[in-house]
Amino acid sequence: MSILVMKFGGTSVANVDRIARAAKRVAVEVAKGHDVILIVSAMAGETNKLVGWVQDTSPLYDAREYDAVTSSGENVTAGLMALRLQEMDIPARSWQGWQVPLLTTSAHGSARIEAIPTENILRKFGEGMRVAVVAGFQGISPEGRITTLGRGGSDTTAVAFAAAFDAVRCDIYTDVDGVYTTDPRICGKARKLDRIAFEEMLELASLGAKVLQTRSVELAMRYKVKLRVLSSFEEQTDEAGTLVCDEEDIMESNAVAGVAYSRDEAKVTLTGVADRPGIAASIFGPLAEAGVNVDMIVQNISEHGQTDMTFSCPTDQVLRAQKALDEAKDRGVFSYGDLVIDRDVAKVSVVGIGMRSHAGVAAQMFKALAAENVNIKVITTSEIKISVLIDRKYMELAVQALHDAFGLEKAAA
Ligand code: ADP
Ligand code: ASP
Ligand code: MG
Repeated sequence: MSILVMKFGGTSVANVDRIARAAKRVAVEVAKGHDVILIVSAMAGETNKLVGWVQDTSPLYDAREYDAVTSSGENVTAGLMALRLQEMDIPARSWQGWQVPLLTTSAHGSARIEAIPTENILRKFGEGMRVAVVAGFQGISPEGRITTLGRGGSDTTAVAFAAAFDAVRCDIYTDVDGVYTTDPRICGKARKLDRIAFEEMLELASLGAKVLQTRSVELAMRYKVKLRVLSSFEEQTDEAGTLVCDEEDIMESNAVAGVAYSRDEAKVTLTGVADRPGIAASIFGPLAEAGVNVDMIVQNISEHGQTDMTFSCPTDQVLRAQKALDEAKDRGVFSYGDLVIDRDVAKVSVVGIGMRSHAGVAAQMFKALAAENVNIKVITTSEIKISVLIDRKYMELAVQALHDAFGLEKAAA
């Protein structure tokens, strides 16, 4: 028996017609003899709507109830998909996360998968079921509460199932026909890649390329899952789309493989904090406890024993950050002058394994941005990426300029 994991994202199951279309694609794989584990997302826009309802009801919501509400979109598509397949005489049933059960940590809103016992689904395959339709994005905590895996989490559900069931492949069907050098929606010259290395995909995903959730790439890398991204709207062959694979299996050698962006960033500056040992720990400790994902950090040169501390975090965590900092100040943990918040920033990053051996990528990046008059507010680098924080209104311009500057529209010779 060979198990294939297929995952259809929100746009690919946006209405009953699209569900029918996806089901036809599943039927092709079933006809080839695969037993299919089919992971589905909520219909396009559903999860956003549910998140909006939660925020409108309770701005600093209880994360357990957030998960109870936001996980529900996937239940609808899983049920509808199973019904569609049954209509096509394909034996199928739906599974919600807790029914599998997909066991996770209790970190609500961004839980990690701990285990996926395979017995229940394997038994059903043994009894003649051909497709297990699984609601993506959701699981169950040790306390028995429903959890979610973070936005875009159905990708991670899919890869985790592929690893647990030792699937022949994990096919991620989406609304673009593969992984591109940058988001094709904001750069017309973006080029589809036939292959991309796990490490580059990991960086691109964590820096905002939402085509795959970061954690899904981590899991695929660790468990050697054969991971492919392809379009749900085109006829497919076994070679279509983009294969995410080991570095050794790639011929291309551009210094930069791709450009990523993250739109919803905020920059927070604390002015007039004491420049003394332990100050960073006393500021970032309370932020971590409040669940704020701090990204870039800069500390200014100090004057008269005082300094400014700047950090970035997702826009929707600013309220949480502000509350945590105010409370810490009230408790006398540290003091500061002003809290200056800029919600209109974006992060743009260039990524490439080739940076390890090519010098001057940072200089080239800064030059390209300078030529477009884009001011850089914060910079961070690592071995294979360089990120800058800029005004959000220049984000698309910056992505396009960098795509040009690094010649990404053409494959490396
Ligand atoms: P799904 O609902 O199928 O999970 P997502 O919207 O989460 O789809 O991810 C697909 C989207 O990712 C594309 O529509 C595209 O706009 C965006 N994207 C961002 N960066 C890239 C990239 N480098 N390559 C392909 N798509 C990208
Ligand atoms: N529906 C969830 C989201 O929109 C999970 C997913 O689509 O991967 O984030
Ligand atoms: Mg997605």
